Amino acid sequence: MTVDESLARFDRHLVTVSTEPAVTAAPPAFGTVFTDHMVTVRYHEQKGWHDARVEPFGPIPMSPAAAVLHYGQEIFEGLKAYRSADGDCLLFRPEAHARRFQESARRLSMPVVPAGLFLRAIAELLEVDRGWLPGGVETSLYLRPYLVATEAFLGVRPAREYLFAVIATPVGPVSPGSKPLTVWASETYSRAGAGGTGAAKCGGNYAGAHLAQAEAARAGCDQVVFLDSGHHQFVEEMAGMNLFFGYEGHLVTPTLTGTILPGVTRDSIIWLARDAGLDVVERPIALAEWQADAASGKLREVFACGTAATVAQIGMLRTAAGDFPVTAPGPMGAALRGRLLGIQYGRLPDPCGWTRRIGQLAAT
Ligand SMILES: *Cc1c(COP(=O)(O)O)cnc(C)c1O
Repeated sequence: MTVDESLARFDRHLVTVSTEPAVTAAPPAFGTVFTDHMVTVRYHEQKGWHDARVEPFGPIPMSPAAAVLHYGQEIFEGLKAYRSADGDCLLFRPEAHARRFQESARRLSMPVVPAGLFLRAIAELLEVDRGWLPGGVETSLYLRPYLVATEAFLGVRPAREYLFAVIATPVGPVSPGSKPLTVWASETYSRAGAGGTGAAKCGGNYAGAHLAQAEAARAGCDQVVFLDSGHHQFVEEMAGMNLFFGYEGHLVTPTLTGTILPGVTRDSIIWLARDAGLDVVERPIALAEWQADAASGKLREVFACGTAATVAQIGMLRTAAGDFPVTAPGPMGAALRGRLLGIQYGRLPDPCGWTRRIGQLAAT
């Protein structure tokens, strides 16, 4: 389905903002404050994508029988806009997020949002809510595109009507000195199974992870680490971040087997690590190996990565068998984090052409 003619224009229904948004004040808790507007685009099997609007952030009218409310046809993305030193608005690898959004849609039998529409929707929102882009050190504007089934019916089949929307929330600095995480390896719950939706960014994966996170919290841990669902032997990922293990001269990260979400940050870290002269090996990593190598000291560091926190250092693995500390923060994770942020904010050269200036995007 191509982008409909009517989408050459997004209808704007803007709110009048009397004061500048208070984005320089103490940052609110993540994801609790939203910008003035949202973008909405409708899809109907017969009409394709239509009715693209920029409108005031507010409730979405929906039938109580909307399919998403019953069978969970929902996918989302998460990417950030950064303010560069020259006051421009930079996006990090938006095309990669557009592509992953399409792959998630296919897995959940939903219509694919054309990449051009995905990028335009983000550009439209950033244009009207630009004043919300924070300017402090390591602050950003988190963008949340999502797609939900809106058709009112209770039969079990893919819906014929959908809503694609983008909302945005300002985020404060994720402190580089933030305390290393203690993580819990859950041998009770799994996040994803073979042939399931683990590689798709869908809400259902998160709903199923909350109970494991609660188990981790009860064990005094910050985050849960999921293992393979077959044997609970191999390390997969955290609920929203991919994992890296640092050894002398090289990094190891679990292979993307279909049960792990292919992170854009993961992919970027692999490239940057190789560029820094480190070997990066993608292979299965057993929980027993993490325990043994932490105990022997062979394992130098462990970190997790994702758009929200960039790179988060892990200082301790806790399992039913006991505690396995590693040195944190480690130098590899810290250096990769610094280089990644430098590229994202336009402070460092961007050898792969990952960043997009918002003017550039609007022109696509
Ligand atoms: C979004 C997400 C990640 C990280 O992906 P990025 O593209 O790096 O933000 C990792 N794991 C899960 C389960 C996710 O949903």
